[in-house]
Amino acid sequence: MEKGKMLYEGKAKQVFATSDPDQVLVYYKDDATAFNGEKKGTINSKGVLNNAISTLFFELLEKDGVPTHFLKKIDDRGMLVKKLKIIPIEVIVRNIAAGSLAKRLGWEEGRALPQPVIEFCYKDDALGDPLINRYHALALEAATSRDMDYLEEAGLKINRILSDYLKDRQTILVDFKLEFGFHQGRILLGDEISPDTCRFWDEATREKLDKDRFRRDLGQVEEAYQEMYKRIKG
Ligand code: UDP
Repeated sequence: MEKGKMLYEGKAKQVFATSDPDQVLVYYKDDATAFNGEKKGTINSKGVLNNAISTLFFELLEKDGVPTHFLKKIDDRGMLVKKLKIIPIEVIVRNIAAGSLAKRLGWEEGRALPQPVIEFCYKDDALGDPLINRYHALALEAATSRDMDYLEEAGLKINRILSDYLKDRQTILVDFKLEFGFHQGRILLGDEISPDTCRFWDEATREKLDKDRFRRDLGQVEEAYQEMYKRIKG
């Protein structure tokens, strides 16, 4: 697949046109940012690992009936995907309180939730991706009521699939963020699923194996991404 002109460059990925207007190439970078771009850095091999990890997760989800944008892995850093019109809503699914939820509700990080919690954030860097509910989404005309039902249902289904898969690999899926978009009238899962967008804790030690190591300067960042690739592949 020929790499055409760059259509978009984000914090962690570049998107290139291809000869097919319905398909784009996604390239994963080693650049890392946190706190809405305030903290910047590089994580060696992150792009290669996130491309490999996202590929494995997209293949797993497709096998279990979740439609995604994924077509195929092209090389170390690149994957071919269906071009999406992204819905500007981040879908966050949580099993254990951490990060912004722990902060907002004054809960201790690590508190188990009796059932999964779904949150929506409006994708707007200038506003810092504010937390919204479905009424805001409708008022923003970012999605319809049916779309919101689908995002919620898909988020919960993906949570079940990924949590079960990771549990077999001694890993707790604490929380994660998803993005969806339209392709030929249908909503598909897009973006990536990686230690950049998920919180993974070792089941026995609760050691963090995700981007929190970068956010919180815990060290051994690349090693954590490597370890997660090993677990997910195995
Ligand atoms: N997340 C993400 N991108 C964002 C915000 C959050 O991928 O812009 C992921 C994050 O890695 C975590 C989950 O969504 O797995 C919940 O994040 P939280 O709301 O706790 O925000 P944070 O602690 O990252 O500010």
